[in-house]
Formats: sequence, structure tokens, C-alpha cells
Amino acid sequence: MSTPQRPALIARRDFCAVSAGLAAAMAAPQAFALPLAELKAPAGGRSIGIQIGAVSFVDEGVDKVLDLLADRGAVDTLYLTTFTYGRGLAGRQIPGHPFPDHGLQESDEGTFHGGNYATPHAEFYRDTSLKQTRAPDHGELDIVTAVLPAARARGMRLFCSIEDVFRSDVAGVELLSEVDLQGRRAGTLCLYHPEVRAFWTGLATDLCTSYDIDGILFFNERNGPLLNALGASHAQSIASSRVTCFCEHHRRAAREQGLDVERARRGYTALDKFVQAALNDQRPTDGYFVEFWRLLAEWPEIIAWDRLFDAAKHQVLAEVKAAVKRVRPALQVGFHIEHVNSFNPIFRATRTYADLASKADFLKVVVYNNCGGERYAQFIRNIGSTVFRDVPKEELLRFNSHLLNYGAEAQLDELAKAGLSPDYVDRETRRALAGVKGKCQVLPGIDIGIPTGNESRKASPDDTHAAVAAALRAGADGLILSRKYSEMNLANLSAAGRAVRDSLVR
Ligand SMILES: [Zn+2]
Repeated sequence: MSTPQRPALIARRDFCAVSAGLAAAMAAPQAFALPLAELKAPAGGRSIGIQIGAVSFVDEGVDKVLDLLADRGAVDTLYLTTFTYGRGLAGRQIPGHPFPDHGLQESDEGTFHGGNYATPHAEFYRDTSLKQTRAPDHGELDIVTAVLPAARARGMRLFCSIEDVFRSDVAGVELLSEVDLQGRRAGTLCLYHPEVRAFWTGLATDLCTSYDIDGILFFNERNGPLLNALGASHAQSIASSRVTCFCEHHRRAAREQGLDVERARRGYTALDKFVQAALNDQRPTDGYFVEFWRLLAEWPEIIAWDRLFDAAKHQVLAEVKAAVKRVRPALQVGFHIEHVNSFNPIFRATRTYADLASKADFLKVVVYNNCGGERYAQFIRNIGSTVFRDVPKEELLRFNSHLLNYGAEAQLDELAKAGLSPDYVDRETRRALAGVKGKCQVLPGIDIGIPTGNESRKASPDDTHAAVAAALRAGADGLILSRKYSEMNLANLSAAGRAVRDSLVR
């Protein structure tokens, strides 16, 4: 069903639907409330959350969506996408993938913009150039104001999700962007820039002060220059000459730590040559791995510069947590722990769960198993094209899986189609729980319909049930259904809820 004049109609209808929901929530909070006793502890004290963006409430109505999430998914906590310019957490289904069985069956490619879906209050952004970030997607709608009363009426908690993904046409961004190895401006913002740090603490403080929410879930999936140079993740292209950051703020931070900026630059230039030679099949005399290790030995600044990026990323996490606790100590802060933390032993070595636990009240640990097959295969192909180019990829997969303590998973050429198993969910949940040592909560992120390639695994209700059951059996403190409701089929959401309720009767 579609009409040419759809965009205008949608805008009006969306506004009415959301307003109607809001008015109903204000007028009669108990009128549609489900039995609160049931909702407050649908999972035996474990928190069952879902990631959801503004567009789903606009398209389907606040009350209808909240009732559906509680009924089908046993959801008691919302991670409401409040700030991002990315499509992973906001917007409808990403273009080119089939729509789920709810919401508008129409691409929002032409209307999606991103930004702050709440209302930025100017006093919190005095120390940053990023003052105008209001998302224009839904007119004057403030999604936190629209959803919060209706969530509260149902005994649901609400966290604002904020994500470090920007776009180049945002006012002020060009002044804060990173500088790459060759001196070019990048599309990412420098985490050593004082105005970027002021933006993140300002945004978190604004949301926690201006709304009666439960806290913040902070997403930052960015990697340091070493991994970016190697393309040592599942999604990245290998762009070794574009590594960042060499801006003045980074250079200053390096000098303060006694790091030689020029040697770091030369080290990354040598690494760029190594990567490009490998991609062109020019084997070093002593082999790819030996040459790579030699580079690290000759240019220890390569690793030091990578650690410098991580230090900034972790500093921002710590600053966000401190800012939130200053508003109210009971507010909670969680961090999204990216998928590469699971696949990549080099990345794993750059952080510990114990340290992350000291910075957060909860960690959302990505254990996406369906799309995990496709992603893990891509990771193996990436590192198998440079550092481990001498190793047959099937053997590399098996070797790497041993390093990671993965169990029996599919072979490389079947991995995308097979996905990773519920056993993977179990193992990664237990690893995180053992790592945090009870110092923070572990909420595995469960893959429900995360888009994959045409031939790759698509989550079935049985897959979803098995993944949820595995995470809960492993002892998780709760779950976060991911990545966003606008990608999920309702049968899968129901399967997640069924697994939660099944876990209570065993
Ligand atoms: Zn920088």
C-alpha cells in the first residue's frame, strides 16, 4: 500500500498518533496499564531490554508498541535511541533489506537524517561547537517526552542510547574532525578534542537532568589505528593510509606521554606499505607474519599510538559516567561492547572486562550469533589477507577459534549461512561474567533479525529462543534485544519472550 503523496501524510499522521498516545498517558496512566506486578519482574529480577528508535513509535503508536513489547518480548526496559546519525540504531529497516512484519513498509532513506531525537537544551552545550544537533526527522517531536510517561505507566525503565556516529554536514563537525596519516580531515570526531569531550558529557548531563530517565547506554564502536590499518574487524574496508588521528590535540596528548609523534607517523607509513604490498600479493622474504611482527618491534610507536586512541575512548566513557553520576548517583551508565571484542584476539588484549566494569554499571556485550557467522568469516578473510596471508584461511579460522575458546562452529565457506551457535552465546556470556567479577551487570545483546547478506543466516524464532535461553542459562543479569525493533519480526520477538518466561519455570 503506497501513495505518491505519502511523506506529507505520514508526517501529519505520525504527529497525531504520537500526540494521542502522549495525551492518553498523561490523562489516564492506569487506564491501559497491564498488571504491574507481572511487568515489574517478568524475568525473575533480570532486566529484559530492547533497543528501539523514534521512528517505530511514530509509525506504530507509543501505547501499541509498548504493550506489544511487554506482551510478546517480556520487555521491561527500553533503550531508546536518542542520539545518533547512524542507521544501526535509528530509522526503519536499512535500505535493501526486507521489512519486518510491522511498521511502515516503506524506506525512510529519503527522510532519515539522525541527530538528537530529544530536545537539546543550550546551557549544556556551551563548551562545544556542536550546538545544533536536533534530529529533524519527526518535526518537533521529542521522543523521550513522548515515550517516558507511557513507559512509566507500565513499570518500564527507560535508558537513552547515545552513539558516536556523525555525519559531515552537521554544523561544527568540520572543526572537530580527526586528521589522517596523510593530513586529510576524516569523517570521525577526535576524542582528544576538548569540544568533543564537552559534547559527550554535555549530552549525557542534558538527558539525565532534563528527563526523569534511568540512565544512559553509550555506544562507541570505533577502533584504533592499528586495527583500522589492518582492517582487523568484520565490517571495515582495509584503508591503511587513512588511519587517524594526527591532529594537534592527539599530538599534544602524545607528547604529554613522551611519545614521539614523528616516529608514530613513520611507523604507520611503514605499516601502510606492508598492508598494501600484502594486498598486492607481494610476499616479504621472511613471510607476512614475521614482517608484521618485525614492524611492531622496529616501531613500537605503532602500538603506543593505538593505545593512545583507546585511552581517549576510555577517558570519554569515564567522563560520561562521572557526568551522569553528578546529576544523580542512582542513574546508571552502560557501555555497548562491540562485536570485534569477541572475534579479534588482538583487540581483546587491549582491554579487560575488569577494567570496563570499573567504568560502567552494566555492559551490553554483543553476542549476536546469527549475523555473527557472516561477520566472523569476514574478519578471518580480512586478517587472512595481510598478517596471516601465509595461512590457509580454513586453518586460520580453526586456529583463531581455539584462541578465542569458541566451540565447534561451521567451516569458513558455510559460516555465513550457518551463523554462530547458541553455544557461542553461552561462552561469550560466561567469559564476560567471569571477567567483570560481579563488579557490574552483564547484559548480552541478542541478535534478532540484524540484517545480513542474501545468502547468510536469518534469525528464525527457534534461533532466537535458543540464543535467549543460552544467555540466561549462562547466568546473564538480563538481556538487550538488538539491534532495533524496526528490524525484528514479531514471531522472533515472541520467541525471545517465550524463552524468558520458560527460564522462570525450569
Ligand atoms: Zn585527534
